[in-house]
Amino acid sequence: MQHLVDTNNFSDEQIAQLLHDAKTFKAQRPPKLLRDKLLITLFFEASTRTRSSFEVAAKRLGAAVVHLDPSRSSTKKGESLEDTFANLCAMEPDGVIIRHSENETPRLLADMEMTSVINAGAGNYAHPTQALLDLFTMVEHFGEVKGKTIAIVGDIVSSRVASSGIRLLTRMGMNVVLVAPKPFMPESDLPQYEKLEDIIDKVDVIMSLRAQLERHASPLFDDYDEYAKHYCIDKERLGDRDILVLHPGPVMRNIDISDKMLEDPRCKVLEQVKNGVFIRMAILKLLLLDS
Ligand code: ASP
Repeated sequence: MQHLVDTNNFSDEQIAQLLHDAKTFKAQRPPKLLRDKLLITLFFEASTRTRSSFEVAAKRLGAAVVHLDPSRSSTKKGESLEDTFANLCAMEPDGVIIRHSENETPRLLADMEMTSVINAGAGNYAHPTQALLDLFTMVEHFGEVKGKTIAIVGDIVSSRVASSGIRLLTRMGMNVVLVAPKPFMPESDLPQYEKLEDIIDKVDVIMSLRAQLERHASPLFDDYDEYAKHYCIDKERLGDRDILVLHPGPVMRNIDISDKMLEDPRCKVLEQVKNGVFIRMAILKLLLLDS
């Protein structure tokens, strides 16, 4: 039984297969490869893109999807998460897609070895399907990402997108640099910059990140207009540089990325969302059919 807790669960060959399958699925709708499969989603945190993207991916491949709304589930009556999960597994799904505020939850459930566990975002630790769709989007654009430089800009310390992205993209041979004001900067061996201007001429990709206010026990930063003056990705800051702009969403307009920049062809935010479906189709195929 294979799980996806983070991208290190996949071998290099499997990642190459995922990129290949996602590209094939994007070029041509696949047959209903997962016709007899059933997935359950269990999202303990809010989600727009990831949950619907998994559902669309599963349905495009012919799988059935059941959503459990934790705010109306028996976890509210005091049932432990492990018991809720075990009860869902008794209904024999082929996989459970979980999002949780605790870093360790997907690993814990995966270790129960009851069904394939797919991490749809855990705390600030991992968001593997986002990392894979970001990789797919960059591979699609550049062909080869090895040797390219990506600047991750924003609330890096609280971001699971950054955590998974750093692990996967460095593994793929990309140079990752971190750009953030001090309160948003994690401890890291990667090159760190307080000002984007100091590195912008060397980067091929900027990944902008939202301030993860829901993860800040007390406010880390008190003036987001001031923050935007230095970190908002806008046309003035980018000039005519040939830089790809990514963001996992939700975008805080004119704080993370300006309105005008969101319409610029260099900005791939909606392409990332589109690609998310294809990479999740490839992930479901790998986990439910090929492993
Ligand atoms: N949607 C991403 C996540 O779930 C990024 C974000 O919320 O800022 O981590």
